Amino acid sequence: MELFTDRELFIQYIYLASATMFILGIKLLGSPATARKGNLLAAAAMFIAVLVTLVNLEVLNYGLIAAGIAIGAVIGAVMARTIKMTAMPQMVAIFNGVGGGASALIAISEFVRITDDGLSVAKHEEIAIMLGTLIGLVTLTGSLIAFGKLQEIMTTRPITFPFQNIASGAMFAAIVGMVIYLVAVDFNEPVFYVLIGTSLLLGIQLVIPIGGADMPVVISLLNSYSGVAAAAAGFALGNLVLIVAGALVGAAGLILTQIMTKAMNRSLANVVFGAFGAAPGGGGGAAAVETRTAKNVSAEDVAVMLAYARSVIFVPGYGLAVAQAQHQVRELADLLEARGVRVKYAIHPVAGRMPGHMNVLLAEANVPYDELYDLDEINDDFKNTDVAVVIGANDVTNPAARDEPDSPVYGMPILNVDHAQHVIVLKRGMSPGFAGIDNDLFFKDNTMMLFGDARKSVTALVTEVKAL
Ligand code: NDP
Repeated sequence: MELFTDRELFIQYIYLASATMFILGIKLLGSPATARKGNLLAAAAMFIAVLVTLVNLEVLNYGLIAAGIAIGAVIGAVMARTIKMTAMPQMVAIFNGVGGGASALIAISEFVRITDDGLSVAKHEEIAIMLGTLIGLVTLTGSLIAFGKLQEIMTTRPITFPFQNIASGAMFAAIVGMVIYLVAVDFNEPVFYVLIGTSLLLGIQLVIPIGGADMPVVISLLNSYSGVAAAAAGFALGNLVLIVAGALVGAAGLILTQIMTKAMNRSLANVVFGAFGAAPGGGGGAAAVETRTAKNVSAEDVAVMLAYARSVIFVPGYGLAVAQAQHQVRELADLLEARGVRVKYAIHPVAGRMPGHMNVLLAEANVPYDELYDLDEINDDFKNTDVAVVIGANDVTNPAARDEPDSPVYGMPILNVDHAQHVIVLKRGMSPGFAGIDNDLFFKDNTMMLFGDARKSVTALVTEVKAL
């Protein structure tokens, strides 16, 4: 059969099989129940694609490749094993950055090879080299800034200066001009190096004016860029599987970006150019001194409320991840269910610090998936609920997003916890959440605060409910 005698054809079929496995893997990632399988399938597909490429190509130096793989595998495995769940977005930012950087290096090495050897290549290949270089480098520096902001090694507030958007526009126009010159007029080395420098600067310039609260969207967007850069590198090399994998990442990243901007009720342009959170004060009233006091409650009283309630909704947030209280929450839910209480979990799309953060945490504690409800599914339920228990969530419950047009978070969809009969908020003190703004929820008549680390508080609730 031709398939087995024609080596090139055989390789292309293997690439096709890998691409199909990528698509199936992404499909499986769509549900927490199958996500693990999806991840493994996509990883296996990548392994096969890399293996086939290594066997097929005229490899100049297997030793160097083996050393690269060994170093990368060790760094990747150590990071994956030791990284805290709460630091996952930073890790994704770094991965996007190195992905973009790797694609840029491939494109740059193709440029060097072509100019050094005086080769003449097709125009579409030249365009692919330019796109791989510029998108890859923008992704690299943009992701490093996103990492710095999330890791808080630099300010999380937007860094702005006059005419910033005009400066970005000018850089972008210069890059387009250089690409046109390089492709249409002369494949000129000095111009290419200026293109490299300008792209690196543009990546920084695009991300510094974006505030910490918008970082999830930016990371998702940079993820999409890293995919596009990889696809461009695939075109430059004529490698089918790189084109397909890059296109998949590009499309998936863009779809996730759209879902997230929708969850924050913002447009992508507003996230990228809006410098959200730059000016403290405004409607958020960050400068005003708080004179109201929030009502305290004891674990004993909360336990009685929960044990004798008909319905309870748990609202997890970033604090749950910090406290690692998911197992205790599951234990509490089991106790309540055994007493006939209807328990649900309300999951906000941007609760925590990464998409799906709460789903992953609760899955770790084996919370049944059918008890998890998305924002749209559960928001009307709060008004018929006896007790909403907010565990380390803050911004995603802030009524200002719904009721105060002047608030910096106005328009972001929130969980309507304040519509429940009683609201219990578990947090350590009165600190604001990620967006850095006050939350009126804490001062509402039907809200009571159970102060302390979420794990300690939930453990106390478990003990108290057991004693009833
Ligand atoms: P927030 O960041 O708004 O609030 C978390 C709250 O948890 C804090 O107010 C803190 O209060 C409390 N907390 C911290 N540690 C503990 C602890 N050990 N025990 C109890 N409470 C604790 O969280 P949300 O989940 O409500 O909102 C997520 C925010 O993060 C949004 O602004 C979102 O835009 C942003 N974001 C989301 C990402 C995503 O993809 N999901 C990624 C990056 C940012 P205190 O210190 O008083 O205890």
